[in-house]
Amino acid sequence: MEQLRVDLGERSYDIKIGYDILANVGEYLKELKLGSKVLIITNELVDSLYGREVEQAIKDAGFGVSIAKIGDGEKYKSLDTARELYDQAVEANLDRSSTIVALGGGVVGDIAGFIASTYMRGVNFVQIPTTVLSQVDSSVGGKVAVNHPQGKNLIGAFYQPKLVVADVKVLKTLEERQLKAGLVEVIKHGMIWDEEFFRFFEDNREDILNLKPEAMIYAVKRSCEIKAEVVAQDEREMGVRAILNYGHTIGHALEAITHYQRYVHGEAVAIGILAAAKLANKLGMLDLADVTRQENILKDFGLPVSFTELDNDDILKSLAKDKKVQDGVIRFVLLEEIGRVVIKSDLPHNIIREVLEELRG
Ligand code: NAD
Ligand code: MG
Repeated sequence: MEQLRVDLGERSYDIKIGYDILANVGEYLKELKLGSKVLIITNELVDSLYGREVEQAIKDAGFGVSIAKIGDGEKYKSLDTARELYDQAVEANLDRSSTIVALGGGVVGDIAGFIASTYMRGVNFVQIPTTVLSQVDSSVGGKVAVNHPQGKNLIGAFYQPKLVVADVKVLKTLEERQLKAGLVEVIKHGMIWDEEFFRFFEDNREDILNLKPEAMIYAVKRSCEIKAEVVAQDEREMGVRAILNYGHTIGHALEAITHYQRYVHGEAVAIGILAAAKLANKLGMLDLADVTRQENILKDFGLPVSFTELDNDDILKSLAKDKKVQDGVIRFVLLEEIGRVVIKSDLPHNIIREVLEELRG
């Protein structure tokens, strides 16, 4: 088992990363000296796969355990679901020393964290992320939220967990599409921060896609380390944290204009990454060789790097509406080389159009 400390002063916490470690979760909780009651928030599918093992482990460590299950899918990350969860928190008699454990992907983690941040003005929060995306991305950084019909994550908070337990064994049951889409965020961390980590994916494609424990533990750990390092410099996303949005500017536009139906998030980000790479190259910032490396790795991991049917004007309109737009200026995260990142605003629209044309499959 590997361990990583996320350094945020009195809100610091550990991320434990290992293979087949769910049975130890009760012991980990005990070490934190939390209150005696635990509410596990999960969904039907994840509960059927891993619920009993986690429940038993926490019971064996002497806690009283209740379980609340939400529906499966982004649409359940809502205030309606939150209301039901508050009811269950009351029913379970949670008090201020109690703990909410999120067992699931990013949807479960985000809403469970939102409940934990607001119930009784905040109870203990522990994450057991079960998707690649949630292990390397959503469980680090303290953003918790529910969606509003008018926008994703509109209602939320910054709220840090007391502990994150990432067991890479559970990734075996993920659908292949989810696995690959989640890996985009991992590889992205290499692109923006650490060329050597990027190379690790070029050199270890098979081991990663086959979820070899050693390779996955390293990938998850290094990825969390990079995100944690960035977040520690900018917990509330005022500056440097924006570099984590590499590939997300155009990625989000593609998701939005396809009404979040066509792409899994990471797939849209993969196309967005190639767009950002081509933009940087056209602006004379990034060598063609570094564009090609990014394109090749995305293709090697079975990710899309082009799109069809979508209209450039729709994409540009959506870009202008993005919540990352500040004072009407679209900001792009661009690379100068793999591992070195800058933020640029006000790119000429004709260059964005040129790149979109090139990405049209
Ligand atoms: P998800 O939670 O919807 O999980 C994807 C699917 O995998 C679901 O059907 C889920 O039931 C299933 N699943 C989960 N674990 C499984 C397992 N081990 N085996 C088999 N199936 C499993 O999606 P996600 O990609 O994990 O998370 C997406 C969410 O994360 C979005 O709501 C997004 O806004 C949020 N997010 C939050 C942050 C943050 O900083 N808080 C960052 C990125 C994304
Ligand atoms: Mg993302």
